[in-house]
Amino acid sequence: MKSKLWLYIIASVVTLLIIFFPPYTVWFQTSNFAADLEKKETPKESNEDVSNSLEKKGTDYKSLSELLKEWKYEVNINSLDGEIELINGKIRVTLYQETPVLKVNGEFAPLSKPPLKENQDFWLAPETIKEVERVINDQSKIKEIPAVAKQRVPVKQMIRYLSFLEVPIKGAHVSTKESQLPGAPRAYRNGYHEGIDWYDYTSGVKITKKTPVYSIADGIVVRVDHDYKELTAKERARLLKLSSIYDRTPEYALDKLRGRSVWVQCEKGVLARYVHLDLVSKDLKVGDRIKQGDYIGNVGNSGTSEGVLGNSEGLHLHLDLLIYGEWFWENYTMKERRKILENIF
Ligand SMILES: [Zn+2]
Repeated sequence: MKSKLWLYIIASVVTLLIIFFPPYTVWFQTSNFAADLEKKETPKESNEDVSNSLEKKGTDYKSLSELLKEWKYEVNINSLDGEIELINGKIRVTLYQETPVLKVNGEFAPLSKPPLKENQDFWLAPETIKEVERVINDQSKIKEIPAVAKQRVPVKQMIRYLSFLEVPIKGAHVSTKESQLPGAPRAYRNGYHEGIDWYDYTSGVKITKKTPVYSIADGIVVRVDHDYKELTAKERARLLKLSSIYDRTPEYALDKLRGRSVWVQCEKGVLARYVHLDLVSKDLKVGDRIKQGDYIGNVGNSGTSEGVLGNSEGLHLHLDLLIYGEWFWENYTMKERRKILENIF
């Protein structure tokens, strides 16, 4: 009798176990476990998926490190400034982090989707990859770079080389203050002033947000910031903090501090970069061929400490001049720089 009762209890427990923990739960768990195992066994593939593509606004970017496995070009990467130089024989192509331009053998061209930097790598959009492959194999880009861009030439020779340029603000003269000329120190960002400033009180003309800026030469519009959004004070402070960390301002950060910009690639390898603008001409389009004296935009203070506050203080035009990608002023003393500028403007 006792053993029958035990048999009955055991049978009941087994039945209850089957009801509450049916075998398919175990099978289900097993199959899940198998799936997990599969995932764990192929982490390489899934990790590569993550690191090999980056999607931004519907564009799949490819990593530079992956591209360099296919590209047989020589490469120089300046991670701090965000610059990637690719070399194919006599053709050098430079890409700039977050800056929509391309430099090909010292001359600038437009680039709609600039490289991004994330996860310790640079990322290139498909159209950027195509554009790089096109220009780096284009033999017509091979150019003889003149001496003025490579070494110090006599001041007179430099003046002659740049004499085709016109002053960008009507009636204005070169600043009376050294601090507004190229090469003047800029302690707040651990660097140097790279261009030429035209301020109200130092250029002999009244400068307001209504002051028009004109093209200093014929050229092709490389960049025009129609959709510029002013930095916030916080963003600007973050960029300046980078310059204290690195002891100089990284190039991609400097680009943001220049505010609303227009870049024009002119003749003789001269790049004119008009920055801190308040507005740009609605008629300007990237790729347009413009003439000397064409309207570029109005003077402003975008990207500056005053600009981020939204006031009208510190208005000035800042113009950068590069010859085949090199500063025209680097091999000269401040006195010589002034002499060159006063002769050309
Ligand atoms: Zn300036």
